Amino acid sequence: MTDKYDVVIMGAGPAGYVAAIRCAQLGLNTACVDNWLDSNNKPVLGGTCLNVGCIPSKSLLESSELFAHCQHGMTEHGITLGKVSLDLAAMMSRKEKVVSDLTNGIEALFKANKVTWIKGRGRLLINKQVEITSHDDKVSKVAADNVIIATGSSPINISSAPCDGEMIVNSTGALAFTEVPKRLGVIGAGVIGLELGSVWKRLGAEVVMIEAQEEFLSIADAQIAKEAQRAFGKQGMDIRLGARLVSADIQGKDKSRQVAVKYQDSSGEHGESFDKLIVAVGRQPNSHRIFETATQLVMDERGFIHVNMFCETSIPGVYAIGDLVRGPMLAHKGSEEGIMVAERIAGHAARVNYDLVPSVIYTQPEIAWAGKTEQQLKSSGEKYRAGIFPFAASGRARAMGDTTGMVKILAQAETDRILGVHIIGPQASELIAQAVIAMEMGASSEDIALTMFAHPTLAESFHEAALAVQGRAIHIAQKRSNK
Ligand code: NAD
Repeated sequence: MTDKYDVVIMGAGPAGYVAAIRCAQLGLNTACVDNWLDSNNKPVLGGTCLNVGCIPSKSLLESSELFAHCQHGMTEHGITLGKVSLDLAAMMSRKEKVVSDLTNGIEALFKANKVTWIKGRGRLLINKQVEITSHDDKVSKVAADNVIIATGSSPINISSAPCDGEMIVNSTGALAFTEVPKRLGVIGAGVIGLELGSVWKRLGAEVVMIEAQEEFLSIADAQIAKEAQRAFGKQGMDIRLGARLVSADIQGKDKSRQVAVKYQDSSGEHGESFDKLIVAVGRQPNSHRIFETATQLVMDERGFIHVNMFCETSIPGVYAIGDLVRGPMLAHKGSEEGIMVAERIAGHAARVNYDLVPSVIYTQPEIAWAGKTEQQLKSSGEKYRAGIFPFAASGRARAMGDTTGMVKILAQAETDRILGVHIIGPQASELIAQAVIAMEMGASSEDIALTMFAHPTLAESFHEAALAVQGRAIHIAQKRSNK
């Protein structure tokens, strides 16, 4: 007999596993199917985010930042260190331990919440049945009243730079180099390129980034992107814009192997040679072979599953969430969609506010934002006022010795409602949360200006930026407004 569940979830990444836990908390009999195997062929939960994405990259970003800080950042504090050396193998095992502690944690949460973990590959059949192909190729079926598809995304491969997993790698390979490349090429100066480029730059690689777009980091507020470009340039990151990859070929033999890269920009064709090449040109939804055609699940031409604002697909009772559907490919967006769908299956009202999905780039300085950029407001004709506070004027940032960047608040000109907050600088990833809370509550810049912030903190810069919208920041000179 086929096992029957209230909910079967395909995929145990941050969208799927969160949906599973919330469904179980709501009293639904829940199973989660996942086919991820770690490097030892052991089934693990957590998907890309925990195994080869957010968590291992943040682990290496933290370790590499400490290494760089010990080399260059201690003298100004009056601390002299002896020779600082790198044990890359130890850094990598720490990363693996961070990952396994967290994936084991999800397994424990599944047990505690009585979520059934089905190990294998899921495929949606008609009548909300899910076919499971186990790791030893046994095929079985389960049935459900509701199915949530959360199979995530994978790195895009390009034929001009075919990954061999050793010399030319995607983001997964770039988290597992066994030595620091002398010269590292990165195709794509997007979020992944910048984060992984930063890791290896800090560990000693010379990094060259080849980016097709003329404009640097066009998804961010233009002023913040300009500040970031300046900061990365100062660190010696070589970012070549308007540069389209033509080809990448592995040349030479054994130890002398190199990746020969050709790219084209407005001045013609150029050549470069690298020890390793990371291809980080975006990700694509994992929608191939996850449903049988007879289900008539609707997809767009790029492979994203079509859903409405509540993540309902074209089939009643079948939902899709996370990187597989429209919107930014971000773990927290997928998790919130998972919670919304679980709540709605259980009969509660729930929705996701897609206007307020925070974005973070974990470089040094960090970059974080929520809401509208200045260029978006300009192009929509919205009237706004901007308030900017540089970290150079923050007592806490000075004491930390980390004064690059700013907080920028954009508020509607008449109502003063905050429409966007953009931060580049120390702990931007943490600071953005207060902006999201404020915007979620419909705060005006005056509300923030009237709130007391502890001194000395980095958070005061958010307060000062709000005061700056009003023309009355205390710690920077502003034109007198008499307000
Ligand atoms: P991305 O879209 O952020 O950047 C890819 C870049 O590659 C773009 O700037 C694009 O112009 C460039 N590009 C594409 N083809 C090229 C070519 N042939 N030659 C040169 N440049 C080329 O994609 P990503 O960095 O791969 O990240 C994928 C997804 O994962 C994104 O949605 C990202 O938001 C998400 N992600 C988020 C985080 C985070 O939240 N911190 C971290 C990692 C990944």
